[in-house]
Amino acid sequence: MTMLRMSFRLRTRFLALFFALGIGLTAQQQQSGQAKAGAAQPPRARPQDTEVWEPVPPIVTPGSVDAAPSDAIVLFDGKNLDEWVYTRDKSPARWTLADGIMTVAKGGAGNIETKRTFRNYQLHLEFRIPSNITGTDQARGNSGVFLASTGPGDAGYELQILDSYNNKTYVNGQAASIYKQGIPLVNPARKPGEWQSYDVIWTAPVFNADGSLKTPAYVTALFNGVLVQNHFELQGETLYIGKPFYKKYDRAPIKLQAHGDASEPISFRNIWVRELQ
Ligand code: MG
Repeated sequence: MTMLRMSFRLRTRFLALFFALGIGLTAQQQQSGQAKAGAAQPPRARPQDTEVWEPVPPIVTPGSVDAAPSDAIVLFDGKNLDEWVYTRDKSPARWTLADGIMTVAKGGAGNIETKRTFRNYQLHLEFRIPSNITGTDQARGNSGVFLASTGPGDAGYELQILDSYNNKTYVNGQAASIYKQGIPLVNPARKPGEWQSYDVIWTAPVFNADGSLKTPAYVTALFNGVLVQNHFELQGETLYIGKPFYKKYDRAPIKLQAHGDASEPISFRNIWVRELQ
């Protein structure tokens, strides 16, 4: 009986061991099978696969409210007009400079533009319609910033400046319009006498060697911090008369308009630009 009991215990242990080994083999076989099946499928995606670490964007110190950031080219900071020339003959600009602001010299030598030329950029500019402004329609605080000055006079691409606070005019000619092309999305104009701002992202048109258009110009603009032009595609230069068309250029100055209307001249301050690739 004792022998029989022992052999029963041994058989039980052998069975338990065999069973455990069997399970182990099965698990190994399962893993092997999974590996074979996995070879035919793409590797499992990881969060790191979509992380981009380089190149690291340059650090830029933001300015205090309305001040130029550290990598900006300051075009006007109230001290002088050294960055500007008359469009007409490229002589030094002589708009009125007083109390850190410059004011359009009406009846003078006309539009002024930057000495520097630009392609794509971010621009900040502040202007003020005088509180004693008179006139109506297009003859009330008319000026403009030409995002690319492609020639004399008003040649180029104008983002309109006008008193559009209670002043009716054609909507594709009101403040923050792309003149005769792009109607602003809203009208966030401030009252005459208050400083206002434009922040503009300008994507210059690109031309083929034969002068034909490769890609059009685009503009995104904020007027007093409010979006007014959202990646708007231009049809060409902004013309007073006729349909717009493109004219090949490479780099161009930024131009400010001395409009010929009889209303009181407007003023500018704090103009800076950041070149973009
Ligand atoms: Mg104008």
